[in-house]
Amino acid sequence: MSESYREMWEKLNLDLKAHDGLLEVLGKFYGDIYMSQQGRLQGMEYLDFVLSEVHGLRIQELQQAKASGKKIVGTFCVFVPEELTLAADAVQVGLCAGAEAGMEEAEKIVPRNTCALIKSFIGFKLARLCPFTESCDMVVGETTCDGKKKAYESFADYVPMYVMEVPQRKNDRDRELWKAEVLRYKEELEKRTGNTITAEKLKNAIGICNDRRRALQRLNRLRAAFPVPISGRDVLLINQISFYDDPVRFTGSISTLCDQLEERIKKKEGIVPENTPRFMLSGCPMAVPNWKLPYIIESAGAVVVGEESCIGTRNTRDLVDESPETLEGMIDAVCERYMKIDCACFTPNKERLDNITEMAKELKADGVIHYALMFCQPYGHEVFKVEKALKAEGIPMLSLETDYSMEDMEQLKTRVEAFREMTG
Ligand code: SF4
Ligand code: SF4
Repeated sequence: MSESYREMWEKLNLDLKAHDGLLEVLGKFYGDIYMSQQGRLQGMEYLDFVLSEVHGLRIQELQQAKASGKKIVGTFCVFVPEELTLAADAVQVGLCAGAEAGMEEAEKIVPRNTCALIKSFIGFKLARLCPFTESCDMVVGETTCDGKKKAYESFADYVPMYVMEVPQRKNDRDRELWKAEVLRYKEELEKRTGNTITAEKLKNAIGICNDRRRALQRLNRLRAAFPVPISGRDVLLINQISFYDDPVRFTGSISTLCDQLEERIKKKEGIVPENTPRFMLSGCPMAVPNWKLPYIIESAGAVVVGEESCIGTRNTRDLVDESPETLEGMIDAVCERYMKIDCACFTPNKERLDNITEMAKELKADGVIHYALMFCQPYGHEVFKVEKALKAEGIPMLSLETDYSMEDMEQLKTRVEAFREMTG
């Protein structure tokens, strides 16, 4: 690792020793899970590079952006409208974390029975491990689940926090509340960046975000092919990187990868044999470097063909309408698009059930593996409904609940293998 990175991390006040340890474990974990795969496409080298430089080159870019006067905005939820962030000439990065590091520190400010995702992002901050968090000028939280909204109250002592109110229902008055919140966010961005969000800037930002969604939609459609041309592990990584990388560069790389996948499909080449059982994942987001479940599934002789999650199709399924020309019209279009998000925090949340069954059918999945993080009430509750909806369509489901520890690997493997045999 270059000396200039160490200097940069030191300036960002990271705990260098603990951070070295984290990078070492991450590198080994990545090698075991990703580099061991056979038959990966050349286009994946870009993703390998981005991941290897996630705390290096990308952070350097963020520092350069800051030096040129741009603000860095960190987020934890796909509800934060990136279109507005970009239109204010700021950079948006995801801060959700998927590793166990810093859990003890986190438990000093949130209860033990908090989901691993929340404890992880808090732990990364308190243990001084995350150069993204340290680079942020503004950290945007949201009132989605109880765990997050209460955690942000304590987290505000450590980061420049701003919280958006997300409604819990989707009636007219909820839409009004959401629009008011989007406008409040716009004002806050303008105040903190000193830049005015104009119709021209917003139009451009909507195009950038939609292009990235279109590239990921194309990638997801290609996974319906027999044999499937790309592993679930790789697509999860792509989705994870979409929250960190420069959006325009990312879209270009994914489009190139899709061209390569189309060639592969034409030749009937797959990442696994055609008769490999195809499973779809559904549930909580899997933040980087949480690769545990896809790895278990794909080591058990199955392949993951889709992710119904926020680090997956929930973030890419809907586009913002690009037809409005006025600022107000564009803001309405942004509000409308975000109100389609089918997070389990909504009640009722029937759309999610329809979306899951439709997606499983489109991808010709042999089964769905529902993944809930331990102590996640919203997704834990929806397990029963999802299972019922899938059953009605004759699609089997396995429900798993886990966290970021490796202790239950063998137990999960046994359950996934039994499910594979049952569906095969
Ligand atoms: S699952 Fe819900 S709370 Fe979590 S990132 Fe997605 S929309 Fe936000
Ligand atoms: S996984 Fe569940 S409990 Fe954790 S932040 Fe997301 S919605 Fe909240």
